[in-house]
Amino acid sequence: MEPVYFVIHRTVCRSCRGSGFVQNSVWHEFYRPFWFGGVKPVDYDARAREMGYADCEAMPPEEVECGECQGTGEMRYEVPLVEALAKLGVDFPGGEAVGAEGFGVNDLDRAERDRQI
Ligand SMILES: [Zn+2]
Repeated sequence: MEPVYFVIHRTVCRSCRGSGFVQNSVWHEFYRPFWFGGVKPVDYDARAREMGYADCEAMPPEEVECGECQGTGEMRYEVPLVEALAKLGVDFPGGEAVGAEGFGVNDLDRAERDRQI
């Protein structure tokens, strides 16, 4: 059996843009009437009470660790070495260079995402 080699493709997490944190969904819901409902953000504590909290201070933290990257800010994928070389435009025996496109998040198809490590 021929050995199969992989390289690691690292990219910035799309969900948190590399910060490692995202807005807590509770706060997204909190802001919804202000952003989309035409409600003037006058009394934030009143909005917190509508959501069942004593006031804004009693609400959970506004930012939480990004679940997509587990707070690292980056995504890592295993990519077969021959595939990586081809995408980088490196010609090699038995390989077919496809141009120096480099890697981008959009290059990752579902199969690559499934190889996330
Ligand atoms: Zn992230």
